[in-house]
Amino acid sequence: MSRAQELRDNLARVLQRIDEARSAGERADPVSLIVVTKRFPVSDITILRELGVTDIGENKEQELRAKAAEWDGEAHPRVHFIGQLQSNKAAAVARVADVVHSLDRSKLVRALARVDRVDPLEVLVQVCLDAEPGRGGVAPAGLDDLVDEVAAEPALRLRGLMAVAPLGGDPEVAFARLADLHAGVLERHTGATWLSAGMSGDLEAAVRHGATHLRVGTAILGSRPSLG
Ligand SMILES: *Cc1c(COP(=O)(O)O)cnc(C)c1O
Repeated sequence: MSRAQELRDNLARVLQRIDEARSAGERADPVSLIVVTKRFPVSDITILRELGVTDIGENKEQELRAKAAEWDGEAHPRVHFIGQLQSNKAAAVARVADVVHSLDRSKLVRALARVDRVDPLEVLVQVCLDAEPGRGGVAPAGLDDLVDEVAAEPALRLRGLMAVAPLGGDPEVAFARLADLHAGVLERHTGATWLSAGMSGDLEAAVRHGATHLRVGTAILGSRPSLG
C-alpha cells in the first residue's frame, strides 16, 4: 500500500472515531483535528494537505524551522507548537507557528510577546494534570495568575487551555478535572474557548469532556521513528 493510501485510510478512521465520539457526547459544535507530524517528513505533510488536513502539530523548534523552510513561500498548513518550549527558542517558534499550546510560565509570556508579528500570536496555557510536575504545564494552583498575565499581554491572544492526560492514569478523570479548570478560566476570560486535549489513545474521553482541539499523531501516521 502506498503511503498516501495508508494515510488516507488512517485519517478516515480517526475522523470516524471523532464523529462517533461527538454523537455519543451529543456535541453539536465542531472538534478540530491537529495532525501531529513530529519526526515525520514534509512529504507526509504534503500528502495530508492533499487529504484536506489544514492543521499540523510539531514539538521541536529546530525540526519545525527546518520543515517551515521547505514550504517557505508556498501555501503551508496552520502550525500548532505543542512541545515544551525553552524561552531562548520562543522567538524562533513564534515566527513560524500560528498557535502555541505549551505556554506554561511567566518567562514565556515575555519571550513570546517580544516577537514582531502582524497578528497577535494565539496561545493556549498548558496545565499540568500529573501529580508531579516535569512533563510541562503550570500547576493548577498557578493557572489563574498565568492566564491573567497572558490575557493582559496585547501581543498574545489567549485562546484557552491545553493538557496531556497523565501517563498510566485514567483519562476520564484527568479530562473531567481539565474541564472544571477550563470552566473557571472561561468565567473570567470569555474568549478562552479552546480546549486542546486528547491524543490517539484517549480522544474519545477528551471529546466527552469538551475538547475543541485534538492532537493526533500515531493513529494517523503510524509509530514514530525514534529520535536519532
Ligand atoms: C506527540 C504528541 C501528541 C500525539 O500523540 P499520539 O499518541 O501520537 O497521538 C499529542 N500531544 C502532544 C503534546 C504530543 O507531544
